[in-house]
Amino acid sequence: MAEKVFIIGSGPAAWTAAIYAARASLEPLVYEGAITEDNQMNGTLPLGQLALTTEVENYPGFPAGNLEAYLDDSLDKDIRQFMAPHQKEGVSGPELMELMRQQAKNFGTRIITDDIVKVDFKRHPFQLFASSGDEIEAHAVIVATGARANYLGLPSEDSFKNRGVSACAVCDGALPRFRDKPLVVVGGGDSAVEEADYLSKFASTVYMVHRRDALRASKIMADRAVENKKIELVWNHTIDEVLGSDTDGVTGVRLQSTVDDSKKEIEASGMFLAIGHTPNTAFLGDKLELTPKKYVRWTVPFRTNTSVEGVFAAGDVADDYYRQAVTAAGTGCMAALDAERWLAGQGL
Ligand SMILES: Cc1cc2nc3c(=O)[nH]c(=O)nc-3n(C[C@H](O)[C@H](O)[C@H](O)COP(=O)(O)OP(=O)(O)OC[C@H]3O[C@@H](n4cnc5c(N)ncnc54)[C@H](O)[C@@H]3O)c2cc1C
Repeated sequence: MAEKVFIIGSGPAAWTAAIYAARASLEPLVYEGAITEDNQMNGTLPLGQLALTTEVENYPGFPAGNLEAYLDDSLDKDIRQFMAPHQKEGVSGPELMELMRQQAKNFGTRIITDDIVKVDFKRHPFQLFASSGDEIEAHAVIVATGARANYLGLPSEDSFKNRGVSACAVCDGALPRFRDKPLVVVGGGDSAVEEADYLSKFASTVYMVHRRDALRASKIMADRAVENKKIELVWNHTIDEVLGSDTDGVTGVRLQSTVDDSKKEIEASGMFLAIGHTPNTAFLGDKLELTPKKYVRWTVPFRTNTSVEGVFAAGDVADDYYRQAVTAAGTGCMAALDAERWLAGQGL
């Protein structure tokens, strides 16, 4: 029998969609992604991007405090026993994601820990193919597979993630470790300028490191970078290595010139990547309309409809602008309501 609502993904968008769909008696089935080496390397393990970070200070409802007892009380024991001990800073990314998943489960959401690798949206009920070989039929589908931040791929960058290396200024810029300290932003497009501008509110200096001698950003954004007295542009350089120690995290970067063999070091307490994101849409093939940057295209303003009737999208997989947990959760709620109303309209 075909599923009523099938959800692909496991970030805030997917779990919020599942909570709403389950409470509407739509008995959602979630494929949350597989635990594989590939997903580990890509940062696409179950629970999504937020599971890759430590403190989450901007998700409403979690002021600073000790959540230990609440976590013990609300999570299934088999999940809780494998989690890191709670730090007294409000909520961590993994804790928040486990709580969302648990809430979806409590309302009857069924969860399979596997990837969807192919879809057929030409026929209805839709057909979905899992990496295990399972085939699923569904009347409505919510795609909530998120996106992943692009990194440089340096081993030193990897070892300082969450200890000074970040790919989200809005998420991490206000953390105490970055306040009144010199910071580095890598990139030269509009979003790099936005990140640098945002960080300049907290940092002593923001070094924008760009491999060319001019920004790729639009003129208005490039002017913003040039006019901001706290932003220093470092032209014609790439990051050779992130410098730091186990105790202090990031303490600087070594730069490699792109015009000669010279190298130099900059002192910095953080390095922010602003070299784009990759949406997790490869498994869709050409079955859904994508934007030129390969995000799922929302086709109706203020709705989560896609180019295929009955298929909805939520979170970072369709949103290349806000990219926040709370906005992903918001569009997850919208997608579940859109799916519910669409199914009712079809008499399903
Ligand atoms: C390091 C870091 C720190 C951040 N900190 C904050 C913060 O403090 N506050 C904030 O608001 N935002 C923060 N963000 C951004 C936030 O994490 C994202 O905006 C949010 O997680 C997007 O949620 P999502 O539901 O769209 O999907 P994602 O969180 O991207 O999760 C999608 C998941 O779906 C699964 N999936 C993908 N493809 C498939 C498939 N084919 N089949 C099955 N499953 C699949 C994978 O498990 C994938 O991880 C941070 C991001 C990063 C990278």
